[in-house]
Amino acid sequence: MSDASPRPLRELGDVSVAKLRHIGEKRTTALASMGIENVFDLITYYPRLHVDRTRRAELSELSVGDTAAVLGEVTKVSARRTRQGRALVEVSVSDDGGSFRVVFFNQAWRERQLGVGTQALFFGTLGEYRGTRQMTNPLVDVIVGPSGEERDPSRVGRVVSIYPASGKAGLTSWELGGFIEESLRRAGPLLDPLDAATRTRYELIDRTAAYFQIHLPRELADVAPARRRLVFDELLRLQVLIALRRRHLERLARGVAHPVSLEDLDVRPGAPTRASDSLVKRFLAQHEFAPTSAQRRVLEEIFTDLAGTVPMNRLLQGDVGSGKTLVSLVALLGVIDQGRQGAILVPTEVLAEQHVAALRRDVEGLVVTDERVLGGARPLNVALLSGRLRAKERQQVLAGVASGSVDVVVGTHALLSDDVRFRALGLLVIDEQHRFGVEQRATLRDEGRERSDEGRDPDLLVMTATPIPRTAAMVLFGDLDLSVIDEMPAGRRAIETRTATTSSEVQRCWQHVRDEVGAGRRAFVVCALVEGSERIEATNAVDERTRLALNELRGLSVGLLHGQMKSDEKEAVMASFRSGELDVLVATVVIEVGVDVPDATVIVIEDAWRFGLAQLHQLRGRVGRSDRQSYCYLLGDAPSDEAARRLDALVHSNDGFALAEIDLELRGEGTLLGARQQGRSDLRLADLRRDEALVHDAQDLARAMVAENSVALATIEDELRLFVDEVEATYLFKS
Ligand code: ADP
Ligand code: MG
Repeated sequence: MSDASPRPLRELGDVSVAKLRHIGEKRTTALASMGIENVFDLITYYPRLHVDRTRRAELSELSVGDTAAVLGEVTKVSARRTRQGRALVEVSVSDDGGSFRVVFFNQAWRERQLGVGTQALFFGTLGEYRGTRQMTNPLVDVIVGPSGEERDPSRVGRVVSIYPASGKAGLTSWELGGFIEESLRRAGPLLDPLDAATRTRYELIDRTAAYFQIHLPRELADVAPARRRLVFDELLRLQVLIALRRRHLERLARGVAHPVSLEDLDVRPGAPTRASDSLVKRFLAQHEFAPTSAQRRVLEEIFTDLAGTVPMNRLLQGDVGSGKTLVSLVALLGVIDQGRQGAILVPTEVLAEQHVAALRRDVEGLVVTDERVLGGARPLNVALLSGRLRAKERQQVLAGVASGSVDVVVGTHALLSDDVRFRALGLLVIDEQHRFGVEQRATLRDEGRERSDEGRDPDLLVMTATPIPRTAAMVLFGDLDLSVIDEMPAGRRAIETRTATTSSEVQRCWQHVRDEVGAGRRAFVVCALVEGSERIEATNAVDERTRLALNELRGLSVGLLHGQMKSDEKEAVMASFRSGELDVLVATVVIEVGVDVPDATVIVIEDAWRFGLAQLHQLRGRVGRSDRQSYCYLLGDAPSDEAARRLDALVHSNDGFALAEIDLELRGEGTLLGARQQGRSDLRLADLRRDEALVHDAQDLARAMVAENSVALATIEDELRLFVDEVEATYLFKS
């Protein structure tokens, strides 16, 4: 692997690890079990941390209760079983300053891993047992194995890279470091897609130097610039991929221009209209409230997209209760005005039913022109396509969708199943809870086109249920244009949120529920989340409803809603809650997204700590939907610090965007990015909070590169073949 001209990164993906010295069949298998198959995998297997040997924690300086990483050598190891039959491995470890004991429960393989002579980093809390200092089940990074056969003194620098070594695979951090070093040396200089001027502009070091400095730093100060460069490369590749997908979409798309008028958006409630006016105009004139200025601005962005031939591909972000539904409805009307249809895809049946009910209320009295009916006009028709419809009803809806007599159809994922055909689908709205990935969205659009007789790409409007930080949106939804509703409808008051843990606080909470009901309002009670079992969750809700009806809420009419109920039961319950026949609704998380009952002013969330921050904010958003003061009670004692901080954040903030930032901070982006459905993610080093500025830089540069079709673009496209499958590569890339 050595020649003079710089080597393209992708070539390293073609070189099997088996080509390296000291790697035979056994180690090839071991590496494969860690997801490392080729030299590219190896050099992007980054150190977990770097230890400055001259400044690491010395045992002699530590006291019991300290959490630290101690570098030491195993002097003794033994294994036995405890009286309860658990495997117990005891290891004696010393460093220059002293010794301590490490014990592992239920990790019998540690005996083999930590033979006498092994050097390892033990990370944990120092405790004490019968007068001896010890760590229990610490994290272990083996640096050099017991025999030390490949201990190359030249690699013992001041700074040691510690790799997330897999004890089970039997490879030490030291060995991994050796393979990586050999890979880097044999690869030689790597082709850098960024020229010197670009590197200077973004304060980046050269690529080859970056790989060396992150794996083999001479001093700790080498690491940060190396990391910066490699993170930039990851983000740049991702943003280039996103930009290429956009370009592809724009080139191939056969969208429809919907000539909507921006002036129509300024019509106020009560304005006089004529039958010949646009639907948008007639709707806004008959609607009870005017759009907020944020809704107005966002609608203008959407209308501008609708008017163009490139299909809209837009993400609508807005906090809970900011009025995303109105925005989507007006957009739909703009499309229906042109004789096309709209579809709304929602995550749950309850939501589908509610949407249909609300839409029917909102569009009541609106008439659309339809040549096929007598008189050339008929009422605007909103249909529900639920998985639970009877066969005959379903046939009716399908026939209407196919003939064009249905203007808007609402449903869950089944909406785009094979037997559904639209006459002309103009706009697909995704009110999403589960965050679809880029590819799923592309599929939805394709399905939308295929199911439509017109064969055109529908415009796409994605609405997030919960705000996510802008940087995260750029990564998760980078293929979408972003519209943000950053203002709540006038007159909203912040929801007052309180925790209730002591029994007197809990009593006061239920008393408050009774008071609100007495004043003509309604309340939600959300039962604890049960991970993994909707059935148990439902049973709990049933019990809790009975308990509350007999005790704290005796005398009130208490309803029940959970995911195991039949669709028509759910619908009936929601209707009586909405009408006020029911005072209190005891529910599982099925009410999480979108349920809209403006008269509800209290929500009590039991065992609130079991829910995630975003979910709690969503749940809380079920109240505070009118100009009346609303309240949220968080019941239950937080069992951990992290949970307590979540609840505390909620008490102190009503701003979904701010909470999203806190959530990201508390949980890291792993969970967020985990929602991306791809196994070949390139983001190994990037950290969205820490690297926020780089996300922006990378997006700017990527867009410019794609627009200019620069030489560097070809290099990045080549690298992207490491992550993108062949099919996608052939249509995305130039050659
Ligand atoms: P979300 O963004 O959470 O989906 P919704 O669309 O359900 O919010 O709207 C929340 C509530 O605010 C609804 O009751 C809706 O009728 C009301 N609303 C929406 N837009 C306005 C507005 N411009 N003025 C007054 N109320 C509004
Ligand atoms: Mg909504």
